[in-house]
Amino acid sequence: MTTLAATERLIKPHGGRLVDRTGERPDGVDSFEVVTLTSREVSDLDMIACGALSPLEGFMDREDYLSVVDEMHLAGGLPWALPVCLAVDGAPQGDVAALADESGRLLATIEVDQVFDYDKEREAERCFRTTDDGHPGVARLYAQKPSYLAGKVTVFERPQPAFPELARDPAETRAVFAERGWKRVVGFQTRNPIHRAHEYLTKTALETVDGLLIHPLVGDTKSDDVPAATRVECYRVLVDGYYPSNRVLVSAFPAAMRYAGPREAIWHAICRKNYGCSHFIVGRDHAGVGDYYGTYDAQLIFDDFEPHELDIEPMFFEHSFWCKTCGSMASAKTCPHPSDHHVFLSGTKVRELLAAGELPPVEFSRPEVAEVLMEAYRT
Ligand SMILES: [Zn+2]
Repeated sequence: MTTLAATERLIKPHGGRLVDRTGERPDGVDSFEVVTLTSREVSDLDMIACGALSPLEGFMDREDYLSVVDEMHLAGGLPWALPVCLAVDGAPQGDVAALADESGRLLATIEVDQVFDYDKEREAERCFRTTDDGHPGVARLYAQKPSYLAGKVTVFERPQPAFPELARDPAETRAVFAERGWKRVVGFQTRNPIHRAHEYLTKTALETVDGLLIHPLVGDTKSDDVPAATRVECYRVLVDGYYPSNRVLVSAFPAAMRYAGPREAIWHAICRKNYGCSHFIVGRDHAGVGDYYGTYDAQLIFDDFEPHELDIEPMFFEHSFWCKTCGSMASAKTCPHPSDHHVFLSGTKVRELLAAGELPPVEFSRPEVAEVLMEAYRT
């Protein structure tokens, strides 16, 4: 089988084809008006460039924006869960503007299509299910500039990946899957170290498909999340020690967290479809923060779409744990014993143990992973 044919066995990108908005640096770009992007907008720009946000070719116009906020679909009818917009103070001069990061480095051009006002409270209410500015995503939305600039982008300078060895665009993950002969691939989104509970989810999912993409988010997260460099080391030691190398790929997901809970679960699934995943793991409180979302909201929201409308298949999981009586990992679905039979440690308890230089029980965390975390707590 040729590689091309193998690639064609994979799920199609959202909208049918992978977008590529990379291009040459145009002459005269230095004379264009410059629009400065936040780090979140730079993440979005780079994901548009490489096709991770296919079918988007630029920042959303008013029609797509309103349709997404109100109906969770693009104006053309494809499912889409979160706005991908560029906030500005006003319309730039000229038909084309330059886009720069916060250091002033030019990254891209945008063909100025529309500049429109938007209702921040409405966006918050619809997308985050709250207008409380204690929510980090809502706080960021409220701090944004007052208008959105829409238009196709052409990216000539990609941001340096934080983890070059893990940086793979959708075309590249698809090529790896094809080369390995995988057709059905499950994606796992994470922004935490993987302990036994999530190892169990990923392996249970992997039992039913060909391959597993461990796809940690390495864009902006809250300051109290475990730093990406520590997490990446945790994934490395875990995969080296406990996963067959021909069935798993660890690669970085360059998105910034929005903490939009249910809608972000849909958005994460669509992005992973572009990376070539046919299945996507959705646990409890996916992409949630605080107690803004119900435990199962991120699973229930998939029912708002017609069967097969998203194409990628969500795989829903319960909270899992080691049960001393079952003698295995289990969940409320598969274990009948009360919680005092289970090995469960709160995040606070785990941090206390690690800070004191003690390993959590092996039923909770692989010692290799715990040691990486302990080292990070020491320094
Ligand atoms: Zn049990």
